[in-house]
Amino acid sequence: MTTVAIVGAGPAGLRAAAALVQAGLRPVLIDESPRVGGQIYRQPPPPLMRPPAALYGFEAGKASALFARFAALQGQIDHRPQSLVWQIEGRRLHLLQGDRADVLDVDALMLATGATDRVLPFPGWTLPGVYTLGAAQIALKAQATLIGPRVVFAGTGPLLYLVAWQYTQAGGQVQAVLDVAPPDAPRRALPGLLARPGVAAKGAYYLARLRLAGVPLHRGVRLQAAEGEGRVQRLRWQQQGREHATDCDAIGFGHGLRSETQLADLAGCDFDYDTLEQAWLPRRDKAGRSSVAGVYLAGDGAGILGADAAELAGERAALALLQDLGQSVDDSRARALERALQPQRRFREGLETLCPLPADWAAQADDALIVCRCEEVTAGELRACVRDTGTREMNRLKALTRIGMGRCQGRMCATAAARLLAQAAGCTLPEVGRLRGQRPIKPVPIAVLATAAAQATPVPPEERDD
Ligand SMILES: Cc1cc2nc3c(=O)[nH]c(=O)nc-3n(C[C@H](O)[C@H](O)[C@H](O)COP(=O)(O)OP(=O)(O)OC[C@H]3O[C@@H](n4cnc5c(N)ncnc54)[C@H](O)[C@@H]3O)c2cc1C
Repeated sequence: MTTVAIVGAGPAGLRAAAALVQAGLRPVLIDESPRVGGQIYRQPPPPLMRPPAALYGFEAGKASALFARFAALQGQIDHRPQSLVWQIEGRRLHLLQGDRADVLDVDALMLATGATDRVLPFPGWTLPGVYTLGAAQIALKAQATLIGPRVVFAGTGPLLYLVAWQYTQAGGQVQAVLDVAPPDAPRRALPGLLARPGVAAKGAYYLARLRLAGVPLHRGVRLQAAEGEGRVQRLRWQQQGREHATDCDAIGFGHGLRSETQLADLAGCDFDYDTLEQAWLPRRDKAGRSSVAGVYLAGDGAGILGADAAELAGERAALALLQDLGQSVDDSRARALERALQPQRRFREGLETLCPLPADWAAQADDALIVCRCEEVTAGELRACVRDTGTREMNRLKALTRIGMGRCQGRMCATAAARLLAQAAGCTLPEVGRLRGQRPIKPVPIAVLATAAAQATPVPPEERDD
């Protein structure tokens, strides 16, 4: 019996599971969340469940279709919710299932691990009351709560306006939406955005609704500092050289999304620098095959293309996996999926033009700014390390300063740290490289590590490094 595991029960993973079941397989579907849906279609616990229209807005129909597809898979998949894959050794997955350690040996693996917030910090970002945009949305979707009654949303990216609109719908007082992208970005982004006119129209709708609701919207903003006694009370910002301050109880901020790539790294996949996303991404071919035989990549975990593309890529990668297992697949369906992914890529280019990362962020960052909140490493310490040691590489910077060594393993700080390193060392982002993924990719109880050590396959003396 062939064991195929899918990590991630978002749009990519669910669509892949459906395609594998259709071909007669019984995949293991693993997700650390209690319920399927991934980020966009995140489901609250049953007592907090609300109608799909209230939870997902325009996307309610797609969410319902995906959940119906999952319901139809019952009995035909091995679904493991609340199960974190925290390590991969060859074809062995290490899981934390609830509070229990387990291992799963697989013949083929699909990584559909999605994305998380891309963050460029600003002074005061570690104050209580400052959240990422994704966290602000998770509070709303999964916990039916707001991060504060009076909220400022800041940064850039499509989530900025979407979450602000969702908060106004939920009764939040959105004090302002502060976009750091340049004012002329929408004009320049238009050709790319028109690759998916329907999605672009939704963005325009959110903007119009926010304006109608009287929410102040500002572009070309520089975030100065979150301030307050004990928790955030105001955000200071600048526009065209003029100083402003907006009172608030909470801030949601972010600069787009970044792919969750640690498992691909542990699985041994090759990575390439992606100039569009300005990030290192696991290499995948058009079908979703990684550089490692038997490991497939789908959805935002291998490049941010959004939920619709994630579904297409999930099915396409499932077909590749089936083909590699020797099953015959419908070639015309495979090609249709690849064709359907093309406009999604053009649209993504439009989005990066619309919401670019501030190019001068590293040059402007104050020495006192905390970059790594887990290990409390400042921009000044990173610069001093470069100056004193000549470091030009991310893993060396980590070894010398502990940046990226804490609980988040660099998921929050790596984007900013790479920019600071490149700026201080006078080299390019591709030249500074990327933090290598380390196990455990997220914190696990120490007892789990002990169990895993006992379950590890012994390494023959001739293959040991020591
Ligand atoms: C916080 C957040 C909110 C978003 N909200 C929206 C929105 O409202 N509208 C929109 O259009 N787009 C939104 N996006 C983008 C959207 O989520 C993605 O484009 C889409 O969900 C991608 O689908 P996916 O299947 O690739 O990944 P996801 O939907 O992210 O699913 C990945 C799944 O993998 C699981 N996972 C990851 N790593 C592991 C592991 N090691 N072990 C076990 N499970 C793991 C996660 O729990 C998650 O359920 C959001 C993104 C984020 C990060």
